[in-house]
Amino acid sequence: MDNNENEKIDLSVVVPIYNEEGNVKELHRQIVDACEKLEKSYEVIFVDDGSSDQTVAKCKTLQPLILVELRKNFGQTAAFDAGFKRSRGKTIITMDGDLQNDPADIKLLLEKKKEGYDVVSGWRKKRKDSFSKKFFSRTANLLRKVLLEDKIHDSGCSLKAYNGKALRNVDLFGEMHRFIPALLELDGYSVGEVVVSHHPRIHGETKYNWKRSVKGFVDMIFIWFWRKYASRPLHFFGGGGIVLMLIGSGIIGWMLVEKLFLGATLAERIWPLIGVFLVMLGVQFFIFGFLADIAIKNYYKNNHRMNYNIKKVVEN
Ligand code: UDP
Ligand code: MG
Repeated sequence: MDNNENEKIDLSVVVPIYNEEGNVKELHRQIVDACEKLEKSYEVIFVDDGSSDQTVAKCKTLQPLILVELRKNFGQTAAFDAGFKRSRGKTIITMDGDLQNDPADIKLLLEKKKEGYDVVSGWRKKRKDSFSKKFFSRTANLLRKVLLEDKIHDSGCSLKAYNGKALRNVDLFGEMHRFIPALLELDGYSVGEVVVSHHPRIHGETKYNWKRSVKGFVDMIFIWFWRKYASRPLHFFGGGGIVLMLIGSGIIGWMLVEKLFLGATLAERIWPLIGVFLVMLGVQFFIFGFLADIAIKNYYKNNHRMNYNIKKVVEN
C-alpha cells in the first residue's frame, strides 16, 4: 500500500485517549501551541478508545481536531492504529493523552529526525511514575534489549516521531505499539533516540496493569520469532524437528542394539518410550514448520508484501 497521495501535511499528531476528560483540553492547547511554533502544516488526531466519561463531549469543543471514535475500548495499540490509518502527515508524532509527555518536545524529535532517522523515540530519562511501574518497565526494557537487540532505552515512551509512510505500513496487534521501532528496524528503517521530559499524571488514572505487561511480554516473544524466522519458519521448526528426531532415533537404535545383541529386556525401561516420544515430537515440529511456512507465504501474498523492503530504485 502506498500512501504517497495522502501525504499532503507535514505533521500528524496522533493521541490515544481513554477516559481523559480532565486532560484533553489542556493537551490540545499545548499540542496546537507547539505545532504553530514549528510553522509547519499539521493535523491533530485524537482517537477516543471507548471512553465512558465526558472525554468525547470535551473533544467536540476543540479545534482543529480530527476525532476518531472507536466503538468500544479496544486498547491503546488499536487506538494508535486507527489514528495512523486516518493520518496524512509525512511525519507522524505519537504521544499519550495524559499530559505526561510534553508537546513542546515535538521540536526535539523533529530535529533529531532531520539528522536522517526514520524513527525517533523519546527517552524519559527522569521518569515521574510509581516505583513499581518503573521497576516493571526497566525489567521489560532489559529483556527487550536482549531479545530484540534494539538500541533504544525506553520503548514504553509514547512520545515518538515516525516516517509516516513506514508507519502506515505496519500491522499492529495486541500491545505492540511499544515495539513499533523494533518492527520498523526489522524492515531496515533507522531508529534514533532523544531525551524528553516527563511529568507526573495529574488528572485521571493510569490504565496500566499487570495484564498489559503479560500481553506485552508475549508480543515481545512474537517479535523475537518474527525477527529471526519470519521469512522461513521452517528453518526454526524443521531444524528443531530434525534434532529431536535424531536424538529419538539414536535412543531407539541403542535400545535395539541392547535388545538384539546384548539380550537386555526393555519392558521396564523408560528409554524406548522417550525415544518414540522424541521422534513423534520431531515429526510434529516438522509438520508445524510446513504449515507456518504456508501461512507466512499467504501473509506476504495477501498483504502485497515481501520479506524485504526496497528503499528506492535509480534508473540511469
Ligand atoms: N489508553 C487508551 N486505551 C486504553 C488504555 C490507555 O487509549 O485501553 C490511552 C490513555 O488514555 C493514555 C495512553 O493510552 O492517553 C497511556 O495510558 P496510561 O497513561 O494509562 O498508561 P501509562 O502511561 O500509565 O502506562
Ligand atoms: Mg501515562
